This record gives sequence, structure tokens and C-alpha cells, in this order.
Amino acid sequence: MAKEQGNLAIDSDNIFPIIKKWLYSDHDIFIRELVSNACDAITKLKKLDIMGEYDFPDDYKARVDVSINAEKKTITFTDNGLGMTKDEVKEYINQIAFSGATDFIEKYKDKSSEDQIIGHFGLGFYSAFMVADRVEINTKSYKEDEAAVHWESESGTEFEMDECDKEDNGTQIILHLNEDSYEFSNEYRVREVLNKYCSFMPIEIYLINENQKPEEPKEGEEKEVKEPEAINDTNPLWAKHPNECTEDEYKEFYRKVFNDYKEPLFWIHLNMDYPFNLKGILYFPKVNLEYENAEGVIKLYNNQVFIADNIKEVIPEFLMLLKGVIDCPDLPLNVSRSALQNDGFVTKISDYITKKVADKLTGMCKVERENFEKYWDDISPFIKYGCLKDDKFREKVREYVLFKDLDDKYMTMKEYLETIDLPEPEKAEESKDDNAENAEAAEPPKATIYYVTDMVQQGQYVKMFREQGKNAFVMTSSIDQPFISSLEMGDDPIKFMRIDAEVTEDFKEEVDEEEIKKDGESLSKLFKKALDNDKLEVKVEKLKDEKIASMITMSEETRRMQDMMRMYSVGGMGEMPDMGGETLVLNLNNELVKYLLDNKKSENADLFCKQLYDLALISNRPLAPEKMSEFILRSNEIMSMLAKK
Ligand code: ADP
Ligand code: MG
Repeated sequence: MAKEQGNLAIDSDNIFPIIKKWLYSDHDIFIRELVSNACDAITKLKKLDIMGEYDFPDDYKARVDVSINAEKKTITFTDNGLGMTKDEVKEYINQIAFSGATDFIEKYKDKSSEDQIIGHFGLGFYSAFMVADRVEINTKSYKEDEAAVHWESESGTEFEMDECDKEDNGTQIILHLNEDSYEFSNEYRVREVLNKYCSFMPIEIYLINENQKPEEPKEGEEKEVKEPEAINDTNPLWAKHPNECTEDEYKEFYRKVFNDYKEPLFWIHLNMDYPFNLKGILYFPKVNLEYENAEGVIKLYNNQVFIADNIKEVIPEFLMLLKGVIDCPDLPLNVSRSALQNDGFVTKISDYITKKVADKLTGMCKVERENFEKYWDDISPFIKYGCLKDDKFREKVREYVLFKDLDDKYMTMKEYLETIDLPEPEKAEESKDDNAENAEAAEPPKATIYYVTDMVQQGQYVKMFREQGKNAFVMTSSIDQPFISSLEMGDDPIKFMRIDAEVTEDFKEEVDEEEIKKDGESLSKLFKKALDNDKLEVKVEKLKDEKIASMITMSEETRRMQDMMRMYSVGGMGEMPDMGGETLVLNLNNELVKYLLDNKKSENADLFCKQLYDLALISNRPLAPEKMSEFILRSNEIMSMLAKK
């Protein structure tokens, strides 16, 4: 054929700056685009074979070669797919590929960089010009009597087309790299990019270094022919039916894809054909939220072609703690992220994933309760986070959230509430003749649920609870406070109270308030004076456990308020202003307290008061450094006094 020349409908003055800007951060995607085009070409030929429109030669083996040549500064993509005729090159390369690029530019030239297109989809073949000064195509169609075609373009805006003598069916695309892009003729760099984008593409891909001469066989040694290995796994685990996958395969896949040598706890294999196509595996990794910065990775694929990690428009945010792969061929990826966010279809995908995760968890709680309990400590931060972030998820799983009690026993809220006496609702008769105003004001009574946030710090209270046969939940994670608040706003008639918030009835003897009032007043006066603190709240009780002398309690409301202030205070480390709300509880059944009451004038009264107060504080929280020094000095003093006796 006669040599053809032509202009492509692209204005080089505006196209390059825009594309350069777009692709500046990851122009390595041209490798993904050209390799996936090569895979497509082979897949199409396979389809023709199945339809009987083409017959593969007996020795046909589908493959894509990526060859690099650091000396010539080239990277070449070769496939044995269906190839293109002259007319097809005109249509698909000169028109479609380039119009695709023009559309791309038109759509995105005014967009800010935050609104990136997912993985720069839509640029296709044209992305070759980001890294190459000159691009050559040699292609031969599977169709008989069609000449092989050579196509070449220097600028991306003008082309030349010619016949050539390519013999095999398929397409070869040669990129003559520009000065800034020589890295793409380096074996290690290209291997890295192939691993990132092409690890699971459906056709075998080989990386060939043209500069590496085959090894000379050594004298007398038989030359061992090393079979080159494909860089990819053409049949990824997620594409198989869950029934065909073994536990070892899941674990192996996890190790390979996420480079995590800790075993995952369990996983969910997503497999859906209708109403949309979605496959994937989500792993629950073993993370410790208190110590690690738990960052999950969800890799998104489109027909086994890697798109990007952690696309929050598709994957619900709270699932980002998981590790997994999602392959969704139906995703509209050539649209911007903000468009994706408002896409009803994408929302459905996201909802489906949430539902599947919730189903897995509730199913486990119902039929594999033992396992569920075993994993609970590891997965609970994730589930609680999900409940806080996602209403639909919370609705599904809230009845299956477990709580651990003081004996390390796990139970759901419902199971727990069945073990305690719920407060009786107000008798209906009494309020019969009340007016409507009053009836409205009456809040339904709530069951108090005690909890521990620190088994060591709150050890004294834990011991008291145990001795009285009372129970509490262990809620030590930082996510537990907001989670508790959300539970209190839920349907169950419950309120939470930290174990040290008050001295509950069970620990006290019944007393005549009037009878101990006087004792209370005189002890209060004594302590206020000794501690030089007028605002000190002192309360006397007769505790069943006479060994306890003093305790500090702080109302639940005050403590929550302080925790919140601490969280929001700048720097966070500074001393909190004393907001009060603390009460010093003295036990009238205790020997030392009795002694103080009878010997207010004793020369040691001051010392005892201070020591009792500090001891009460210590069992509640660490002392400030200078208070600690005082406490140690005073303790020594007390021992010296004993020694002198
Ligand atoms: P897309 O892949 O989205 O169609 P591209 O710009 O990547 O867009 O490619 C444009 C067209 O060029 C493809 O649809 C295909 O028809 C043709 N093409 C590109 N690469 C090859 C190849 N290696 N073999 C056969 N045809 C190809
Ligand atoms: Mg393409």
C-alpha cells in the first residue's frame, strides 16, 4: 500500500501540558493500559475461536511480552491476539484512541486535581505518549489476506502508516522513551510496575530484558534451560467459586498480596453475578488498635486489572480497616471521583459489601459462637467503629455485639439484660389522675450497666464488685466511650456507669442517715482543714468491707465531661484544672476512720487525713509527680513513727 500520512484531531499545544499534569504523579499507568490492551486483543481472539470464526494453531499459547532495552531506551509490548487491519488501525488508533484522549482532556482540563479520575481510566493507548517521543505499531490481523501494518507517530499529533512484513498474528507496540522516562527501560522498575497493576491479569505476561544475553553453558555441564516465569497469576483466587478454595489457598493469597505474615482471622468471599458483577475476598486482619496504626488496604480491580487502593467511594469507610481485593467489572471508572460518589450504582455496591460483612458477622455469632468469641477482642474495635460510622451496619449487627464481663465471659446485651432485674416501670394506676404534663416528663427507668476501663487502676472497685457477686463489662478500648454513648441513645433502656462512679447500695449497710449525719460533718471539717481544701466533698458510709478506709468516686457525668475536655484540650498533656465532682468517701466501719472520729485532736490526725486521701486517690488514678513525692515522704514518716514505738 502507499504510504499514508495524516493529522490526528489533537492540538498539541493544549494536550501535553494537561496530560503531563494529570499523569505527573503516576505516569507508570501507561504500562497497565498497553498490557491490558494486549490482553483484550487475546481475549477477543479466544472468543472468535469459541464462536468458530477462527481456529488457533495447535501450538498456540496466549502470551504478552513486555521487553525492555536499556541500550536502545525502548519498551515493547507484544501480543499474539487478533491484530488489526489497516482500516482497523485507522479506526481504532487514529480515531477511537485519539478521540478517547481528546474527550479525556475536554472533560478534565478545568477540574481541580482533587477530583481525579479513578486511576486515570479512559486514556488508553494514548498514554504511551506520556513517556515516549516516538511510538511504533506493527500489527497483523488474524483475518486472512490482510497485510501487516506499520504505524508510527512522533508527536502524538501526526502519524505515518505503511505496510510491513510482520509474520505472526498480533500486535507489537514499541515505545522510544523520552529523556524523562528512561526508567521504563530498567528491568527492576518495570517489574515493580507490572507487579502493581498486572499481577492478576487474565493472560500470561512475561518480562524480557533484551540486553541480557542467554547464559553460556559451562564446559562439560549440561545447559539447564530455565523456563521463564509469567509475572502474573491469571486465575486469581477471588475469581474461583468459594467452594473450590481451600483454607490454605486463602491464607497463601493473603500473604502474597498483602505481604503480611500474620495470619488473617477469617475472611469473606464475595461472589455476585446479579444485579451486578462483583467478586472479591475481604480479610479480617489481626490488628491491635491500641498499639498499631491499623491501616487496611482494599485493592480495587476492574476485570483483573488493578485500579487503585482504598477507593472510599466504593468501599464503605469503616471497612478500610480490613484487607482485601474487590473486582467489579461493571464499575463506571472513566468518571471522576465526585461523580462516582453520587452514582446510585456505586452506592448499591457499597451497600452490598456492607451487608455481606454484617451477614458474615451475625452468622458467625449465631452458628459459630465459640469462634466469634475467640475473635471478638480482635474484631470488636472494627465492629464498634462500623456501628458508629454506618447506620445500616449498626442496625444489622447491634444485637450481636458482645460484651466481656469480669470473668472473661462474653454475652450480648440481650443475654445480659436477661440476667439482671430490670427496674419496674412506674405503676400505671398511680399516674392515672396525673395530668398529661407529668406523664410526659416521666422517663422510663433504665438499667445501670457497670463497666471497667482499666482493670489495674480500677482494681479496688473490681475487687469489691467481685466480692458482692456483682458484674461489670470490661471496655478498655478507646472506641468504647463513643460506643457507650451511642448505645445509651439506642432502644435498650440502659445507662452506663463506670465502676468507680459511686458506691452502690450493695456495698453499703443500711444506715439511719440522721444518725451518721453528725459524724459526717465532723469528719468533713477535719479533712477540709487537714487538706487545706474548703471545697472538698466528703461523704460517710458504712461499707460492708471494713478494710476499706477511704475511696474516691466521681459521678459518671463529670468524668465523661472531663474526658471530653481532655480530648479536645490543646496539646492534651497539660494538667486538667480541678473541676471538682470528686467525692471522698469515708467508711465508718473502718478502724482508722473510727479512731480519727474519736481522736480529732490527736497530733497525728492531720497526717492520717492526708494519707487516707492520697490512698483513696491512688486507687483511682496516678498521683501528680509532686503529690507522689509528698506521699512517699509521708509514708516513710509513718514507718519511722512505728519503728520508734
Ligand atoms: P480502549 O482499550 O478503552 O478501547 P484504547 O485507547 O486503549 O481504548 O485502545 C483503542 C482501541 O485500539 C482498542 O479498543 C482496540 O480496538 C485497539 N487496540 C489497542 N491496542 C491493541 C492491541 N494490542 N491489539 C489489537 N487492538 C488494539
Ligand atoms: Mg485500552
